[in-house]
Amino acid sequence: MAGQQLTPVEEALARLLTQATPLTGSETVPLTECLGRVLAEDHHVPADVPPADNSAVDGYALRTQDFVPDSPLAVSARVPAGQAPAAIEAGTAVRIFTGSEIPEGANAVVMQERVEVTDAGIVIRADVSEGQNIRRRGQDLSQGDLALARGTRLRPQEMGLLASMGIARVPVFPRLKVAILSTGDELVEPGTALNPGQIYNTNRFTLLGLLAETCCDVVLCETLRDSREATQTTLKRAASEADLVITSGGVSVGEEDHVRAVLEESGELSLWRLAIKPGKPLAFGSIDGTPVLGLPGNPAAVLVTFLVVAIPYIRKRQGASDYRVSGEQLPAAFKVNSASVRREFVRARKETHGQRVEVAAYPNQSSGMLSSACWADGLAVVPEHTTVSPGDMITYYSFAELLG
Ligand code: AMP
Ligand code: MG
Repeated sequence: MAGQQLTPVEEALARLLTQATPLTGSETVPLTECLGRVLAEDHHVPADVPPADNSAVDGYALRTQDFVPDSPLAVSARVPAGQAPAAIEAGTAVRIFTGSEIPEGANAVVMQERVEVTDAGIVIRADVSEGQNIRRRGQDLSQGDLALARGTRLRPQEMGLLASMGIARVPVFPRLKVAILSTGDELVEPGTALNPGQIYNTNRFTLLGLLAETCCDVVLCETLRDSREATQTTLKRAASEADLVITSGGVSVGEEDHVRAVLEESGELSLWRLAIKPGKPLAFGSIDGTPVLGLPGNPAAVLVTFLVVAIPYIRKRQGASDYRVSGEQLPAAFKVNSASVRREFVRARKETHGQRVEVAAYPNQSSGMLSSACWADGLAVVPEHTTVSPGDMITYYSFAELLG
């Protein structure tokens, strides 16, 4: 059966991305609420930033032609930040502070540390050159330029940049509404006692954290029993409420694995075995037109498949234009003796020993062990059909980069 074939990660991702249609429409939100959202419109600079030439230091503004070494210049005015200065009087200096506007006519600022204050005025103990210590009007953003393009994900620095242009409300793509369905008769919620055969529902919480980090709205979060009917009913309900349904577990070929079967029967199933380690069983399909991403059940596999496969897909649907990560090339401090047909994402950590930076792997890479991911600060890639010896260059992605 075709499903027995493993789908290479690249191919699966490419197929997922072609189906990742960005959400339509936009909403306008206050700047205070736009962190992590994606700009729905280009933003051109309405007026120069900064709006006027201003001083980069605390000191004295002057006209370079009035500067004579060792001879005092009278101080004729004082311009605190926030005040509009008068034009400078010829043959004088003006006391000025960081961020104060440069008085008309002045063309340099001397740092106060280079100045001696005498009864007759200031004596400058340094060279003075035109333009020195002046931050030019428009040096950050020039009127009419494209400041931020549609598709930009807003980080703290973009929030600040929008504020610097005086923009208080921004049009952003809608939030992606996601339903989380954990599957498994063995699952119980933390906070209750375990009976024999039971385990705590781990994936629900990993996924809640991941979806919060990726700025999604969780509209439904349920635990599904292992039955065809329950799976079908809840999948359909989730599909009617969400833009994306994420399930965990139930996508292997076991007889209690109903997610895959329901998708095959009542929806659509595009791919379901990925050449990735951890995380081979992965389903992508749809039910009643809503995409469903069926992640594996094992907790470390959930984390890895979400980071590697789900995030680029989610980013694209959120309207982001940049949803790829580049990683870093670093020497491995571990070895992988047997080559696999699957691409392995090793829970790893960047370590510094003196001048040397290398990537260490958690010794136990079992897909059920989440402690490995808590020890790690990223994922190292072991390509398909490849062994690794210490010192070999490998690609490493930090969790911070993957979560963007
Ligand atoms: P499955 O694909 O449903 O057979 O699940 C694979 C493994 O992951 C089994 O050992 C499950 O018990 C475990 N598992 C599935 N879902 C969860 C969950 N939400 N939290 C913790 N472990 C899970
Ligand atoms: Mg199960």
